[in-house]
Amino acid sequence: MTSTVNAPAATSPARALVCRGCGAEFPLAAQHACFECFGPLEVAYDQAALARVTREQIEAGPQNIWRYAALLPAGQDPSTRVSLDPGLTPLVSAPGLAAELGLRAPLWVKDDSANPTHSFKDRVVSVALTAARGLGFTRFACASTGNLANSVAAHAARAGVPSIVFIPGDLEQGKVITTAVYGGDLVAIDGSYDDVNRLCSELVETDEFEDTAFVNVNVRPYYAEGSKTLGYEVAEQLGWRIPEQVVIPMASGELLTKVDKAFTELVEIGLVEAPANGWTVFGAQSLGCNPIAVALHGDTDTIVPVKPTGIAKSLNIGDPAAGLYALEAVRRTGGWMDYADDDEIREGIRLLARTTGVFAETAGGVTVAVLKKLVESGKLDPEKETVVFNTGEGLKTLDAVAGLVGPTYRIKPSLRGARDAGLLG
Ligand SMILES: *Cc1c(COP(=O)(O)O)cnc(C)c1O
Ligand SMILES: [Zn+2]
Repeated sequence: MTSTVNAPAATSPARALVCRGCGAEFPLAAQHACFECFGPLEVAYDQAALARVTREQIEAGPQNIWRYAALLPAGQDPSTRVSLDPGLTPLVSAPGLAAELGLRAPLWVKDDSANPTHSFKDRVVSVALTAARGLGFTRFACASTGNLANSVAAHAARAGVPSIVFIPGDLEQGKVITTAVYGGDLVAIDGSYDDVNRLCSELVETDEFEDTAFVNVNVRPYYAEGSKTLGYEVAEQLGWRIPEQVVIPMASGELLTKVDKAFTELVEIGLVEAPANGWTVFGAQSLGCNPIAVALHGDTDTIVPVKPTGIAKSLNIGDPAAGLYALEAVRRTGGWMDYADDDEIREGIRLLARTTGVFAETAGGVTVAVLKKLVESGKLDPEKETVVFNTGEGLKTLDAVAGLVGPTYRIKPSLRGARDAGLLG
């Protein structure tokens, strides 16, 4: 068989599943916990295969996450993809926000609300479900804090595969309707996300759910890899550069660890040079659910689970699966974490909207509010280029700001009405 030098990898560069705890290796199957130490599993790659990937190959690819297929565990053959083709979302220059916060170097907002179901979750779901179908699963499921539910239901509808999505019963209407509309089964549970997740971990062991891929349970290692595409994209959109600072919202903490992993890979395989002093990773939580930030502030590795409260529901995971690894990434890169209360979150949403034209959901409000705190406390360097991640869409959490904004004037439809209101001077 002959091959051309620049032919895209038709096979997966993934090599094994490796335990993040003890390093034990397992075959690429539907397994998420280590048989030796119960630690979480992560996809490991054939480094030589990754190193063959070129910028030209990526740039010649589709205008979505699959341009990075040669760096992902599944989806190299387009006909195998279960996907809404998310990705290549705008990297928005934010000079107005930078000025308001006192940042003197360039500031960017990576606006992932522009994905097909309006959150970054489309990235992880496309990779997870493509892997899941390859592994023979015939039904798609998840435990969700909201956005994952939207994305799994939509992907299943597009692929013509049945779905069953589990959510906490108190989710925002904007997340419930935007899931139910796709027609799959939607199970609302009287409990928190952590209760939902525990139930899903039990269901996945039953005979009745043997054919079901829970994107963030039994195929979680593949799901997590989808988050890397956010890091790849930021680097490519900056002209193949890694920003000096990134500010990332945390629920399980997975997204944060995978953006860091993406930067590390790009440097290791020679596609990008690291900034002279490396990059620094910052994490954002809400006051109502801040177990990872509290552990960092207490200088401990013991993450004490909490019962989440507050309006940032998409981030409300009280027992964060990747919390330890998020701590590791933030400490290693010299970063910090902080958290914002509900009023600060609302203010963050408005500040971002007013200065950039980006309307974020509560998670974006958390991130912008924490960015502000990090500048004020001197943890984030105002002289360094910074990317802040907006992971979801404001229209899904309208209640957060509904009472705070509205018409500036209410007038009669006449010049006189306009004059009376002062619009004519
Ligand atoms: C799920 C989610 C996150 C964070 O996810 P991790 O569990 O930390 O990977 C961030 N923002 C939004 C809007 C989300 O839905
Ligand atoms: Zn292990």
